[in-house]
Amino acid sequence: EAADQALVNDLTGAPSPQQRRALAKIITLLESTRLDHRKRADEVLNSLLPKTGKSFRLGISGVPGVGKSTLIETLGLYLIEKGHRVAVMAIDPSSSLSGGSILGDKTRMERLSVLEGAFIRPSPSSGTLGGVAEKTREAMLVAEAAGFDVIIVETVGVGQSEIAVAGMTDMFLLLQLPNAGDDLQAIKKGVMEIADLIAINKVDIDPDAAMRAQLFITSSLRLLGFQGNPDHASHDQEFWHPTVITLSALEGKGVPELWEKVTHFEKLQRANGKFASRRKQQAGAWMWDRIDAGLKTAFRNNAAVQELLPILSAQVNQGTMAASVAARRLLESMGHEFF
Ligand code: GDP
Repeated sequence: EAADQALVNDLTGAPSPQQRRALAKIITLLESTRLDHRKRADEVLNSLLPKTGKSFRLGISGVPGVGKSTLIETLGLYLIEKGHRVAVMAIDPSSSLSGGSILGDKTRMERLSVLEGAFIRPSPSSGTLGGVAEKTREAMLVAEAAGFDVIIVETVGVGQSEIAVAGMTDMFLLLQLPNAGDDLQAIKKGVMEIADLIAINKVDIDPDAAMRAQLFITSSLRLLGFQGNPDHASHDQEFWHPTVITLSALEGKGVPELWEKVTHFEKLQRANGKFASRRKQQAGAWMWDRIDAGLKTAFRNNAAVQELLPILSAQVNQGTMAASVAARRLLESMGHEFF
């Protein structure tokens, strides 16, 4: 469509109010649940694809109150000062779980949001976590096509959403409070294993506790590394080892050092090939994610399935048909052989 082409032209042009409007409009199109919108969105995405991928994608997570918005604002201001353009996306798992919102309700990042060089997009507010993650991935591509070179994807610490964010970013930063109890939780949930960098925030409140937490998490990481991921255990200088730093997001203390770590990580990853392989792996996983979701939808919408499903479900419930047999009959009612 001509109108969409105009949007694409505005988006890929120079930074301007039109560009921001085009960015917001295209993301709205992507988030629409109408099939005709989806078809247009697919066209737009495909035409933008050559211009995407040129940003650094940073995932940030941590429990509510740890200081995510404070850090993103401080870091965002710092980066814009350095000449970067920063887009912030959020994945709020509470919107898909409860319809409520952990991330979105408060007024956030007021100083950052008014700047020309910043674009802040709240979490898509409905759908499954997979659906919300898909919209965010697509929004990220559109922001990249508009020339935003740092994309920050934020989420809260509830396991699944953190894995989703780590699966769409180049680096995953976990924020922690200077409190050993929380550290143990993160280890239990398996979040430590996916963190490339851990920052203990609010060092200004209690520097001693922050340092104890830093030591504790560093030794926990070492332990995890020797048990699991060989990269973590390796002492090869070409590879990144997850590290723990301290930070005051409020006072800005440690923010330049944080960014130094991020750029060092990026340099290493690009040099040893992991940057590209992580993105390839993510694109493949994303495709299969969407195929799985699409197949499920097609299955549920299939007329033969809809007719057979209540009958076979009842038989499974009553114990007159084996669950596996019922599943195979339902799948085969779509017209394919399943084994
Ligand atoms: P989020 O829920 O993770 O986004 O956390 P917020 O960024 O909203 O921060 C929660 C509270 O902690 C706010 O009152 C912040 O001002 C405060 N806060 C964040 N970072 C720091 C910090 O480094 N030091 C101190 N003292 N307070 C902080």
